[in-house]
Formats: sequence, structure tokens, C-alpha cells
Amino acid sequence: MPYLNCQAIVLRRNDYRENDRMLTLFSPEHGRVDALCRGCRKPKGPLLSASEVFTMGEYVLFESKGRKTVQSCNVIESFYPLRLDYERLRHAALMAAACLKTIQPEEPMGHLYILLARSLKRLAYEDLPADAVSAAFLLHFVTINGFKPRLNHCSRCEKTMGEGGGYLLPDEDGVCCLSCGKDAPKRSYLTFEQLSWFREILSRGIDKTASLPNQVPLKILKQYTEAKIESALPEV
Ligand SMILES: [Zn+2]
Repeated sequence: MPYLNCQAIVLRRNDYRENDRMLTLFSPEHGRVDALCRGCRKPKGPLLSASEVFTMGEYVLFESKGRKTVQSCNVIESFYPLRLDYERLRHAALMAAACLKTIQPEEPMGHLYILLARSLKRLAYEDLPADAVSAAFLLHFVTINGFKPRLNHCSRCEKTMGEGGGYLLPDEDGVCCLSCGKDAPKRSYLTFEQLSWFREILSRGIDKTASLPNQVPLKILKQYTEAKIESALPEV
């Protein structure tokens, strides 16, 4: 089958030759797909918007000698408002970078794809703070990748987490309570309110989570994610 039809989101683009780009696409059924997009940098080229980062579309790819080329693309969503807001754009870049670290060619990742698409939509069109959208994304991202943190009980003494909050420790796959965590790094501390927010996001999703904590602990979640996937993610 020399032709491949797939829905995908552009995670990365690199300029190539005079008018072309190499795209890294994320397809729910095919995982990572690298494809050459010819002529897309010409000002009025039909593939201009198809080659922008975060564009979601129905791509038609032609495969020859192991190399894929974009033939056409029906753009479903460009998430255009992201391009007008630098802060939100950086959060979208964090999500794209996280996906790039884990997707593989011909490995379906339907849940991660839906998570990314929904999170980009929230960033582009909804009023939720960007750090809350990113935190919810990372929490689901680690869960999909098999690193769901244990949040209800202390990883050391197994007691139910109390009002004092606790420390989120990647090496222990979850939180540890205040009395057990005297040696834990202070930068991994989560308040009771923040821990409850995490639990709610995992059980109900961010759309149904009523209130935000005073401070969204994105940094702690980013540290946890980076430790689990063993690579650094961009600053936001
Ligand atoms: Zn404990």
C-alpha cells in the first residue's frame, strides 16, 4: 500500500532544502510518522498550514523506498489562538516534547493522542490557566505511560495521606507522608489541597474538577515526569 491515510497532529517541523519541511507527525494508529512535506514553505502553497506545529489534520501520505511524503492534508484544527499567546504556546510545546519522548513508529497510542488533542483545545480555546492544563496533561501522560503515582497512601508506612500533605517521589512511584519524608527534598512537597486536586483530575478529569489549588504544582509534576521518562522537558 503506497498510500497511507491518517489523522495526525504535527509535533515538530524542520526546514529542509529551499521550500520543504520534514514533519514529525503523531498518529493515533501509527504512532510516530516522519514525512517530507514538499513545497510547504512557499507563501501560497497548499500545504503551508499542514506543516505547522500543532496542526491536526487528515494526512494522505505516499510511501516510496521507505520514505513518506505528504500528498495532501485536510486541516481539521489549527489551534490558531495558541500562536498568538506566547505563554500558552510554551505549554503546548511542553506537551509536544513529552509526546515526542514516548511515541514510536507503528505503535498505536490512541489514549495519548486524545489527551494531547483535548489539552491543545483547552489551551487554545478555554479559560483554564495554562499551568493547570499542563499539570493535568502530565498527570494523565505519566499514567498512560505506566507511571501513575500512588496518591492515597504513604509509600513508606502505607498510612492514608493526612491533612499535612506529603512528598511526591519518583523513585517510590508516589507520595510519602510528612513523618516518613523527613529526608525528602522540600521541592517535592505537595499540600493536602494539591494532592486532592491530583486525585480529582485522575478520577473525574480536569473539566469536572471544581476548584483549582491556590498554587498549581506543575513543577513537581514535571520533575516526576522527567524522572520517569528519563529525559528533560522544556521549561514553561
Ligand atoms: Zn508514611
